[in-house]
Amino acid sequence: MPQFTRRLTRSLAAVALLVGSTMLGACTTNAATGRTQLNLLSRSEEIQIGQEAAPELIAAYGGRVPSDQLQSYVTDIGMKLAAQTEGENPSLPWSFIFLNSDVINAFALPGGQVFITRGLVERMDNEAQLAGVLGHEIAHVTARHANNRLVRQAGLSLAAAIGGVVIGSDEDLQLLVNGLVTGAGVYALTFDRGQESESDQLGMRYMAQAGYNPSAQLEVMRILKDASSGPRQPEWLSTHPLPETRIEQIQELLSEEFRAAASNPANQLYRDRFQSTMLQGLNALPPAPAMTLRDAQFIEQWIAEHTECECHEHGSVSAR
Ligand SMILES: [Zn+2]
Repeated sequence: MPQFTRRLTRSLAAVALLVGSTMLGACTTNAATGRTQLNLLSRSEEIQIGQEAAPELIAAYGGRVPSDQLQSYVTDIGMKLAAQTEGENPSLPWSFIFLNSDVINAFALPGGQVFITRGLVERMDNEAQLAGVLGHEIAHVTARHANNRLVRQAGLSLAAAIGGVVIGSDEDLQLLVNGLVTGAGVYALTFDRGQESESDQLGMRYMAQAGYNPSAQLEVMRILKDASSGPRQPEWLSTHPLPETRIEQIQELLSEEFRAAASNPANQLYRDRFQSTMLQGLNALPPAPAMTLRDAQFIEQWIAEHTECECHEHGSVSAR
């Protein structure tokens, strides 16, 4: 068989295999976004990926804040927001982890693991801001953004297979697909701008439904913007691009979709109880340990390993 034909046959076999693999994942309508999406990962796979990845990330971020009361405060708000999510999402095994780290960050893993650092919470001044960040992270989970990135990544691999560049055999392709699926945990940590905007919008929906004023989402962006003009870039920037367009989009949402919610006196900021419980509680604790260089390198490597050919536009994790 001429080489070209052989390569074409091999490529077609690879395509058939990949299509076969992807067909194993179901095409469903996402209850949060209303969009049809191909799911390479089942919900139980997402949950497993999140739960397996969580312990080493918690350790790298200095463990949990050493206060059951403050951890419960975060969990209670998170659960109130998770109850507002669509479809079967409220029944996910949600977990809200308050990290004892002075870095400024929040992130989510597939299946319901949401993380927020003390460094970020200490810069807030009301509970609605905390709800805004948690709502944004919850939205990455409900919109299944990690899954969508995986599908895109598989699409890139498919293009490579058709070009006959990467794939040597069907087994190689299967290995590649398996690798993509098992590596999916960290796909959770970096998202594109469209996904960030979608999470801002869904997060505002969840917070408004839970009785918070969605204008606090704009305050969160300003906190992050202020922090990013300081001597140290917040780690948030490495996982959450913060272009001006995001601020503009939130302003637009506040004047349109969430106009009524933002002016409804029932939706509050809950400044007093945040100050008296959260901020005073944090003040009474020893300061969060600074991230060690080893932990920073671990996190950076963890993100890099699982984002393969995706480009990292924004900063990196740094230790002080
Ligand atoms: Zn995000």
